[in-house]
Amino acid sequence: MEFSLIERIRRRVDSRADVVLGIGDDAALLQPPPGELLVVTADTLNAGVHFPEGTVPADIGWKTLAVSLSDLAAMGAAPAWCTLSLSLPTADIDWLDAFLDGLLALARIHGIALVGGDTTRGPLSIALTAIGSVPPGQALRRDAAKPGDEIWITGTTGDAAAALAQWRLGESVDERLRERLDRPQPRVPAGLALRGIARACIDVSDGLLADLGHVTDASGVGACLHLDRLPCSEALRDGVDEASRLALQLGGGDDYELCFTAPADAHARVRDALARCGIRGTPIGRIEAGQGVTLLDAQQRRVEAGARGWDHFAGGAT
Ligand code: ADP
Ligand code: MG
Repeated sequence: MEFSLIERIRRRVDSRADVVLGIGDDAALLQPPPGELLVVTADTLNAGVHFPEGTVPADIGWKTLAVSLSDLAAMGAAPAWCTLSLSLPTADIDWLDAFLDGLLALARIHGIALVGGDTTRGPLSIALTAIGSVPPGQALRRDAAKPGDEIWITGTTGDAAAALAQWRLGESVDERLRERLDRPQPRVPAGLALRGIARACIDVSDGLLADLGHVTDASGVGACLHLDRLPCSEALRDGVDEASRLALQLGGGDDYELCFTAPADAHARVRDALARCGIRGTPIGRIEAGQGVTLLDAQQRRVEAGARGWDHFAGGAT
């Protein structure tokens, strides 16, 4: 069964000048940009775990690539190539075509080429490895935050988790929220624009609080977050009461926004860099000496994380 499926994939993929040999041989031959570091990341999506059973295949295809592109974005990497390992219950050409519709649409946007993979029979499971590159010294790492840095977030958080919560409760899901869950937009242009400006960076997949915690732990610093500064989409404001909204914004997950730090005196450069790529950015707090993440309300009072049920949402989607 695999051969006809692989042939189907081979015929549909776009190439790039630096793909010396793509799908069809025992392995691909790729020409890395001279002098740059390769940036490599892998993700696996399992049916029923990483997407609800019944998610349309085009959305699964999109999201498969989106989560890996988001990792490349968070490193400040330029995407180049990817490989795809597909485990499929049956040789379903229609499923594969729809899956490729989603995956290749996003691949085209970011100019990443599918250059190889593996196709086997088994429970529905999809693994993708993405490769990009970055000049030495310019990668955006988790361990680079410094006291005094401003903390920024791109876009808004909480929407994807809100969609998932509505779906799980059997409610009708707001289309704008569903779009954020099923078709996340990896912030690749922001990651590139922030090279040389941002210090630490992470993509928010497990929830803002948890992922910012990874940055503070890796950097050996603390952080304070201003809850009243968290950017909120209109859809989330419309659909969810305030207490649940904060829980989703802080702990929801599946956001695929970039949370990054930059020196306070780079504020204008950050604004300009993000404006040039048309991506919203909001300063939401500050890195400080110490450890852990402190939450402050509008009156600058400390708020305990978890006090309003935030734990309940932490890691809920992944
Ligand atoms: P091998 O037996 O050497 O592993 P395969 O039959 O698995 O070869 O693969 C043949 C070619 O098709 C290889 O170039 C491989 O990278 C590619 N390929 C297989 N499955 C996929 C896939 N799901 N997506 C992209 N390329 C694939
Ligand atoms: Mg193989």
